[in-house]
Amino acid sequence: MPTGIYQRKKGYKLFKNTGDKNPAKRIEVRKKISEAMKGNKNGIGNKSRTGIKSSEETKIKISLANLGKIKYWKGEEATYSSKHHWVRNHKGKPKICENCGKSAKHWANIDHKYHRDLDDYIALCVKCHKKYDRKF
Ligand SMILES: [Zn+2]
Repeated sequence: MPTGIYQRKKGYKLFKNTGDKNPAKRIEVRKKISEAMKGNKNGIGNKSRTGIKSSEETKIKISLANLGKIKYWKGEEATYSSKHHWVRNHKGKPKICENCGKSAKHWANIDHKYHRDLDDYIALCVKCHKKYDRKF
């Protein structure tokens, strides 16, 4: 199978060539980066010389990460409360807790899937709603 061997050799050669070219390219890129870093007086990416700035950067990163969490949390809360508002708009204020008969404050979703089905919601007082939600 001479052709098979030849093809393999060709493939190996090609691989070797790119392998030889890559480190040289890498060195060139490194040179370019280091040159760019020299001209970089803001210290972006050069954390060893700007310890204070990098810690500030970390602080910003942490606060941004927290913001993301808060945003996400608020988003979850928004969909939750908007559905409750929607129920309130259609069914009115909950009057009597369907569990204990006391004055109800909440519309509780029966299956906790929060479909836009008014029959899925029952009036519950705060205590019963908490108890009810804990079951899920
Ligand atoms: Zn109740």
